Amino acid sequence: MVADMTQRTIAASWLLPGTGEAVAKNLAVAIGDGKVVSVEQGQGGGDGALVLPALANAHDHARVARLSQVGSYDVPLEAWLPYLTLIPAIDPYLASLVSFARTARGGVGAVMAHYTRVQGLTDFPTEAKAVARAARDIGIRMAFAVHCRDLNPLVYDPHERLLAELSPGACECVTRRFLRKPLSAADQVAMVETVAAEIEGDGVTVQYGPAGVQWCTDPMLRLIGEASARTGRRVHMHLLETKYQRNWADRNYPQGVVRYLDEIGLVNERMSFAHCIYLRLDEIDLIAERGATIVVNTSSNLIVSSGVAPVAEFIKRGCRVAMGLDGLAFDEDEDALREMRLAYALHKASGFDIRVSRDDLMRFATVNGRFAITGKLDEGIAPGALADLLVLDWKALSAELVEPEVPPLDVLLAKARQQHIKSLFVAGREVVRDGKVTGIDLPALEAELLAVLRAAYATTADVRAAMPELKAALHKHYAGPLYCA
Ligand SMILES: [Zn+2]
Repeated sequence: MVADMTQRTIAASWLLPGTGEAVAKNLAVAIGDGKVVSVEQGQGGGDGALVLPALANAHDHARVARLSQVGSYDVPLEAWLPYLTLIPAIDPYLASLVSFARTARGGVGAVMAHYTRVQGLTDFPTEAKAVARAARDIGIRMAFAVHCRDLNPLVYDPHERLLAELSPGACECVTRRFLRKPLSAADQVAMVETVAAEIEGDGVTVQYGPAGVQWCTDPMLRLIGEASARTGRRVHMHLLETKYQRNWADRNYPQGVVRYLDEIGLVNERMSFAHCIYLRLDEIDLIAERGATIVVNTSSNLIVSSGVAPVAEFIKRGCRVAMGLDGLAFDEDEDALREMRLAYALHKASGFDIRVSRDDLMRFATVNGRFAITGKLDEGIAPGALADLLVLDWKALSAELVEPEVPPLDVLLAKARQQHIKSLFVAGREVVRDGKVTGIDLPALEAELLAVLRAAYATTADVRAAMPELKAALHKHYAGPLYCA
């Protein structure tokens, strides 16, 4: 990443270093050359800022559209995923530029783009280059997890019975749209290194992105385990997001799906697992022991009816836990501050029994996610640390305080939203200023994106016509005897 050489000083009324140090008051944070130069006693006062590390979104997909845009609000995950096919294929640069800009505006300086939806208008490395260029143009750090998938294209388990439920027209459409033969496992895995050679560096890293155990054959997962061990490249995948995935995994991996992943080299420090709602306690222990990261997606889990992750157990048992938005922020606005609040409120405590400490929360929202994305453990806000900082408007946040000494994290958790962002710095570059993404005109790009999506919407009319039947058949499949045993 090209560091911004500009020297500047941020007057911090409060500093939340993010990695366990005490909250500090009235400091001047000098940055330059992409790093924090000094943190000294300052003249901040009440008009300054609340400074914390830039937030990390450790599970997302650089998605083009929000779910209500294609009418898929309130659809369970297994039926919701096919709805993504309703979104027309468009220019990947425009799509990613808007996605990353919204991510930055939401307070995030580092994002995981698990690229599960390929536009496919060009060859894949060309598309990956467009996505990487968009991340660099916006100025956020990005891990591009190359999606690998070669199993269960429509449902977990064989799909013949489901197809037989459909009318001939819907069956033809679903077969054509969803059941194309995938590239071989070896070709898909080899593509990861091809893409890495093209786009890695300058704030962008590349990871293996197996879709999940129910979407990858054993040979594919083994190839990825071997390749990651050989190259040191990180791996990001979904794991046990729904009760149906748990059911499938138990039938197909009777030795225990996490134990299986461990045997093939996919439970270690290089791994991050998204969701993990249906992990068992011994599996949580194994993940903690191996140092893998669990990425919790609170809003997404609620919206697509997947469930509530056992975050208290993750933390109690010593897992590294990070935050993800999964393209499904609670108000469809990509606000990572609200996501942080929602996750904390849902998991923090039962009465006086505290389950998520403030320290756990800061690590969840910042350093643990950055580790999953970059593979590096950052040192908080101190001289020499990367100047990846989120600067909130403390004057606005504290405007209604009666008690002057309310801890700033309390105020942040109570009310901070992306509207309170004064600046987001990444490697010293001011990516967001006064709530606006710098260097681009986001409202104009959003209008352009919407026009493009509407103009191209007719290209997915066939899926739209088949969707009611497909949704009903999917419901029947997962409500059926296989999953109710
Ligand atoms: Zn996801």
